Amino acid sequence: AIILGIESSCDETSASICIDGEIKSNIIASQAIHAKYGGVVPELASRAHQQHIIPTVDQAIVQAKIHKNDIDAVAFTRGPGLLGALLVGTSFAKSFALARNIPLIEVNHMQAHILAHFIDDPKPEFPFLCLTVSGGHTQIVLVKDYFEMELLGQTLDDAAGEAFDKTAKILNLPYPGGPLIDKYAKEGNPHAFQLPEPQIENLDFSFSGLKTAILYMVQAQEKINPNFLQEQLADVCASVQSRIVSILLNKLKKAAKLTGVSRIAIAGGVSANSGLRKALLETGDRLGWNVFIPKFEYCTDNAAMIAIAGYQKYLQKSFVAQDVTPLARMHV
Ligand code: ATP
Ligand code: MG
Ligand code: FE
Repeated sequence: AIILGIESSCDETSASICIDGEIKSNIIASQAIHAKYGGVVPELASRAHQQHIIPTVDQAIVQAKIHKNDIDAVAFTRGPGLLGALLVGTSFAKSFALARNIPLIEVNHMQAHILAHFIDDPKPEFPFLCLTVSGGHTQIVLVKDYFEMELLGQTLDDAAGEAFDKTAKILNLPYPGGPLIDKYAKEGNPHAFQLPEPQIENLDFSFSGLKTAILYMVQAQEKINPNFLQEQLADVCASVQSRIVSILLNKLKKAAKLTGVSRIAIAGGVSANSGLRKALLETGDRLGWNVFIPKFEYCTDNAAMIAIAGYQKYLQKSFVAQDVTPLARMHV
């Protein structure tokens, strides 16, 4: 079966073609406009999706070397995400399915981040644990089957990606700052600055205290040395990244112990972070985990993960009717 996947939940417009479970194209149009404002502006995101959606889908079809008429079903991100952004992808998918008289498949964006692990080999066996760390979410999920997932813990305030991006803002780095912190951290000393680890008993997370601690630390240092940020950017980035990574890994260890599950995956934009990937491999080695790390292009938002999730739903004949509407909030 040939599935067209559509993603438009935040600030990337993406289209992908999946043929019998194999990804043939994954076109991503990112929206540079938001950098100017230091964060995603919902209204601008909707307009950019509207401009990008047709050329993105066309390109995905051309690159997959198929014809529009060959497509058997359309899968789209129903939520969670920005409502105006979701509306563009949803409306496009509905029109496409209606015009070609093919089934329509809704996909949960957070489930899709996890199901990106079923694009390439090795694929994890069920059940496995997934740490989903993205711009809007931080979750530990027990994945029992493709669409049977249990949320074991989540953030009480900021997401891990937000912790990176808000810290970057304090450090005067442009949005999205996560990848930049990753880059500068490579040349810094992770032990240069002591940052707090929140004391939360269960599997929930908190990152807002860390952000405040970083702000106060930078302000105090700048009083002593006005050039502090220019001179010690790498050390600050390394210290921040190492703390975020240790918070994430400590919870994963706890979850593995509690559930007895030792197949451990990471997903979402922050799973592109080199410090997290390295620490997960090391911890996994030490504790005998079977570790699953996605390819870079499947970490941040992409339609390949929507198409692969859509393919599984296609096999289950799990379709939706034309009156389906997007949802800003949706649970895994
Ligand atoms: P959600 O999936 O929760 O709806 P989103 O779709 O906006 O949110 P993603 O596209 O999955 O999130 O991830 C974007 C986030 O990933 C941003 O916060 C970005 O800074 C972060 N990120 C991307 N690459 C890296 C990296 N190398 N290191 C740290 N953070 C990163
Ligand atoms: Mg994005
Ligand atoms: Fe996402």
